Amino acid sequence: MDNPASPLEQVHTEIAKACKASRREPGDVTLIAVSKTHPAEAIAPLLGEGHRVFGENRVQEAQEKWPELREQFPDVELHLIGQLQSNKAEDAVALFDCIHSLDRPSLLKALAKAMDKADRRVSCFIQVNIGSEEQKGGCAIDALPDLLEQARAAGIPVIGLMCIPPAEIEPAPFFALLAKLASENGLDQLSMGMSGDYPTAVMLGATHVRVGTALFGARS
Ligand SMILES: *Cc1c(COP(=O)(O)O)cnc(C)c1O
Repeated sequence: MDNPASPLEQVHTEIAKACKASRREPGDVTLIAVSKTHPAEAIAPLLGEGHRVFGENRVQEAQEKWPELREQFPDVELHLIGQLQSNKAEDAVALFDCIHSLDRPSLLKALAKAMDKADRRVSCFIQVNIGSEEQKGGCAIDALPDLLEQARAAGIPVIGLMCIPPAEIEPAPFFALLAKLASENGLDQLSMGMSGDYPTAVMLGATHVRVGTALFGARS
């Protein structure tokens, strides 16, 4: 019997192809399955296939969904990929293993305080507003060195940079710019690439791709 490749297998295949084309190792790319809006029943098949790294964009939704799933799968690794309000910093530090949306001094202070209080260090990416879009989250490119220095001084483990490029235009130049900024600032992890562009992101150095639709189908 011929089993068609699952969405998870297909995405892994695309990542492997992009790695081969750019002489990278597939093991250096972490696939974050973005399960936002999808219920536990939709997540179960991926867990069944052995996938353990997931992304959510809202603290409250993750709090409702993940504690129960984690009882069954204690080795799940949860990433917060959406914007974070400072008043949710404590909840985020308690629940997530990695935060991709550190983007301003007020949030930095709230996270540092929450990590101290919980005596738990959560790895963070600084989100950069890579297309300088007014409505988008992320710190301005010019503000990055300062924010990074403040984060380091506050004891926040910043491991890399994250971006969401402007919609509807070729993302490659923005991925390349994020990689350049990371290297200039002594950071080696890059959270970039979504369902529509993760192979490009991998070829430009992504260490974490955030893929939802290609794994779970369209969100309603
Ligand atoms: C929803 C979301 C994704 C996943 O988007 P898809 O196009 O469904 O793969 C990735 N990153 C962030 C920040 C998101 O909010």
